[in-house]
Amino acid sequence: MGTFDSWGRVVSRTRQAIAPDDYDNRIGALGAEAFLPFGQGRSYGDSCHNDTGSLIEMRRRARITAFDPGTGILTCEAGVTLREVIEHVAAHRFFLAVTPGTAFATIGGAIANDVHGKNHHARGSFGHHVLSFDLLRSDGTLLTCSPDQNPALFAATIGGMGLTGVILSAQLQLMKVPAVHVQQHAIRFDSLSDYFARVEAVDAAHEYSVAWIDQLAKGRGFGRGILLAGDHANADGEIPDIPKKWVRPSVPFMPPVNLLNGLTLKAFNELYYRKARPGEQVSTVPWTSYFYPLDAIGDWNRLYGPRGLFQHQSVFPLEAGEATVRALMTAAQAAGHASFLTVLKKFGDRRQRGLLSFAREGFTLTLDFSNQGASTLALLDRLDAIVMAAGGAINPYKDQRMAPATFAASFPDWERLEAVRDPALMSDFWRRTAMALTNR
Ligand SMILES: Cc1cc2nc3c(=O)[nH]c(=O)nc-3n(C[C@H](O)[C@H](O)[C@H](O)COP(=O)(O)OP(=O)(O)OC[C@H]3O[C@@H](n4cnc5c(N)ncnc54)[C@H](O)[C@@H]3O)c2cc1C
Repeated sequence: MGTFDSWGRVVSRTRQAIAPDDYDNRIGALGAEAFLPFGQGRSYGDSCHNDTGSLIEMRRRARITAFDPGTGILTCEAGVTLREVIEHVAAHRFFLAVTPGTAFATIGGAIANDVHGKNHHARGSFGHHVLSFDLLRSDGTLLTCSPDQNPALFAATIGGMGLTGVILSAQLQLMKVPAVHVQQHAIRFDSLSDYFARVEAVDAAHEYSVAWIDQLAKGRGFGRGILLAGDHANADGEIPDIPKKWVRPSVPFMPPVNLLNGLTLKAFNELYYRKARPGEQVSTVPWTSYFYPLDAIGDWNRLYGPRGLFQHQSVFPLEAGEATVRALMTAAQAAGHASFLTVLKKFGDRRQRGLLSFAREGFTLTLDFSNQGASTLALLDRLDAIVMAAGGAINPYKDQRMAPATFAASFPDWERLEAVRDPALMSDFWRRTAMALTNR
């Protein structure tokens, strides 16, 4: 037994886990719905837990078994983290083709959630760069899955939230880059309309692009923020130092109250916005700070206090973009809830590879709220309703509370995943959404 939290920590409890070897040894005698693979718990809600069963600690299998600097193809066990991959290949000037905002996620977790990064408009999501993986089913079959081999299981496993089997290892196509560091363009915008007027051109000009929004600004500055665009830097440019060992400050204990409240956030937002001067500033920054600024502070989620945080991420069609962002932010302001991290991004039109992939063409808005009980839950329901009315979807691996009907509307193909779910696997999320829909 150990503490296997998810990042939101709204339901934080001791959970049972077993080693992958132990799981393998029990093949043939595995209880129904009694297991779930677990990576690093960087999902925010209950999609990475199975509280009536045991988690399989995949981090215990974390070897990189092959890398060819000629082709950029890397083979590794599923418990390897994104950071370990980057450190292994950086000297050869390769990088992950897609990375989320934390390098602590595992390869298995990144495939199972088909995560997206700041370059969705250019390269789609993580699953688009997976060449194949080996999947262990609870009946003992070991299947290599790729677009050509077992294609149905390949599509169901990418974004399948760990329910189709245990990914043992994967083969990834990495991306050749001139340097791993990033030439960053910090572009300040004065309002939401200003963002929407600029985003198209910024995305067309840069590999990476994402916007931070001051969610608390009102009046003329409503929706103001900073677009952080970037491209891999030139090989002969100045390369910033990265500490050899990743010694990082950590939030050492859980404060008794939420420290990220309206007052502290208003001050933080004002400072952060003003730090970027008007116009555009160009600088070369280490890959660590461009892609993973939050990884620099260990356990930053503790700042939300003992009740944890909810993250709400939605995606909605392009044509509904500005009106929906405005409605979501207005609802949060009206409810008196401050979001520490408000991130806006435009997803590209690449066809999804996974049956239940979240990232799809449209705008995506991410809001983080401290858990204040009923009022936060009521706000989250209101946000869901706005997104559903716009024809959008809610991210399941950030979720802890969406209604089954919201899930079904977001992922109309969920029954196809249920049809190939491994009977030994189940998650708290799947039980309270998909299983509730089957009226079991
Ligand atoms: C600071 C921060 C920033 C983030 N930014 C982004 C972002 O920009 N974009 C984005 O998409 N996400 C983002 N996330 C979410 C995070 O990247 C994903 O939730 C990621 O998938 C977590 O990986 P993990 O290894 O921790 O997996 P877990 O959270 O432990 O598990 C995730 C899912 O993968 C399954 N799984 C894990 N290992 C295996 C395996 N070997 N075989 C089969 N299934 C498996 C689990 O059952 C579970 O369903 C962010 C999270 C944090 C904390």
